[in-house]
Amino acid sequence: MRRRNFLKNASLTGVGLAVGNSLKGCQDISPDGKKVVVSDKKTALPLVIATWHVIDATARAMEILQAGGTALDAVEQGCMVEEANEKGQSVGKGGLPDRDGNVTLDACIMDKHGNCGSVVYLKNITHAVSVARKVMEDTPHVMLAGEGAKNFALKKGFQPESLLTEASKEAWEKWKVEAQYNPIINIENHDTIGMLAIDKNGDISGACTTSGLAYKMAGRVGDSPIIGSGLFVDNEIGAAVATGLGEEVVKTVGSFLVVELMRQGKTPQEACEEAIKRIVQKPNSDFNNFQVGYIAVNKHGDTGSYSIHQWFSMTKYQGSVNQQIQSDYFKKA
Ligand code: ASP
Repeated sequence: MRRRNFLKNASLTGVGLAVGNSLKGCQDISPDGKKVVVSDKKTALPLVIATWHVIDATARAMEILQAGGTALDAVEQGCMVEEANEKGQSVGKGGLPDRDGNVTLDACIMDKHGNCGSVVYLKNITHAVSVARKVMEDTPHVMLAGEGAKNFALKKGFQPESLLTEASKEAWEKWKVEAQYNPIINIENHDTIGMLAIDKNGDISGACTTSGLAYKMAGRVGDSPIIGSGLFVDNEIGAAVATGLGEEVVKTVGSFLVVELMRQGKTPQEACEEAIKRIVQKPNSDFNNFQVGYIAVNKHGDTGSYSIHQWFSMTKYQGSVNQQIQSDYFKKA
């Protein structure tokens, strides 16, 4: 039996799965009732996946996981790598600003218990994902916005700094010449970083961080900090995270949808494909003009990714392999 089918059948029939350090040596029941050891040499857990090509970020997350750290620590630390990377113009420091020249960040995080924290329209603090974690752990709330989020971060000891780098300022000034109102959505390149991890105990967490659409309206918030849209984790089932035009993800509550589809028996790949179909098959969908991509993982460590257009990718670190995997996509020609 192929491993995928085994895992699927195992979850359907209630056969116990050893989700621990490894799936090596999982047991299946053959038709004659004997236990059969499935020889799977691949070490499945821990594992980490992220949107786009972010091997430094997944490497950092895996470092935490291999040292026995939690999936929650792994996704936070992994996202922080990209937030600090000034060359990435869609996350954290160096992110492209809104149309008024302000860099505003959105982020969220969710743990194995379903706890979550989120910040929106956060200015002058690089590590938005860490502020989101503090909201989750140190307040009775889920979401803090704007000045309130910033003041909270400062009280927690985060250092204020300018997030607008020379390169992003230059890009914004160039954009202002024509000031096309259409927000730019990058189809081919790294955007929001969304990261999902399963630690050696089989527990799942996820995080998501972004500077949002370049040259967005002041005050605009996308899907990335919205629990259920940009990110959703259900430790019983799996997790999903989104990138792309946030408005479309919000309208379909995309990440929650992917997880619910997995709950109904779909593989992560099938669930991501179905969630993309919900967007592109809407009457009058304008999907030629925007990108959306999902990545997902289920409780067994199967993963999937799918997008509307070509060039979306997922970075996956499992076993000793940290690699970029090109995503399949809807719009083939
Ligand atoms: N989803 C993000 C947003 O809409 C943007 C992105 O993924 O690039 O703000």
